[in-house]
Amino acid sequence: MPLSIEAIPAFETNYIWALHNGRDCVLVDPGSSAEPLDYLQRNGLTLCALLLTHHHYDHIGGVDDILAKHPVPTWGPVDPRIPQVNRPVSEGDQALVPELGLALDVLETPGHTTTHIVFHDDEILLAGDTLFSIGCGRLFEGTPAQMQASLDKLADLPGKIRLYCAHEYTQDNCRFALQVEPDNPELQARSAKVKKLRATDQITLPPTLAEERAANPFLRTREASVIEAANRRQPGTGHDPAAVFGVIRGWKDQG
Ligand code: ZN
Ligand code: FE
Repeated sequence: MPLSIEAIPAFETNYIWALHNGRDCVLVDPGSSAEPLDYLQRNGLTLCALLLTHHHYDHIGGVDDILAKHPVPTWGPVDPRIPQVNRPVSEGDQALVPELGLALDVLETPGHTTTHIVFHDDEILLAGDTLFSIGCGRLFEGTPAQMQASLDKLADLPGKIRLYCAHEYTQDNCRFALQVEPDNPELQARSAKVKKLRATDQITLPPTLAEERAANPFLRTREASVIEAANRRQPGTGHDPAAVFGVIRGWKDQG
């Protein structure tokens, strides 16, 4: 059976991603344990690894509970705030899940937190809270320049890769993005599609990276329209991508 990827909703907006082949399963960022444990049991799946992107509670809160029942390899960043990680990985390393035939490349993406990492291959990007659909993570620990560099790494990946991020924030993100780029037809189309999906409580993920590059303002800080919007918001910003990024990130934070 080919790889299936399913979202297990948790808390208000989190998705815990489950990658499985009908027998073995990997969980990504289990912020809680009840929902994923129930999911494994209901589907008759055996847990074979955990993948963790960063230390925030809504991403690792369920790890202890899950490991107590299923002691599996736990891949994650080098960070004393996640002592459960027993397969620490850095930029250039791979997370290996032989049960699913997965070899995922690790990229360091500081910005949301200083040690945030993402996992990807040629088809999927497990982005945690670095890149959201039509948005990006808040800068809790990093600088705009760090986050711009992190997003540049993700924007450089092949466009057919699908984005599996950790939150259902897309509709809110579209509302903001339309303030930055009201005349972007790709964004207008995405926004309409997302509105329809959310009206019936459906998931808006996973978009392709090509779709994101066309509509996500945080991946578009070199586009004239986004540079102009940043300079309207804060005159004198100029066109340096990190400066433009800082202004639109701050704009979004202020609502
Ligand atoms: Zn987070
Ligand atoms: Fe989060």
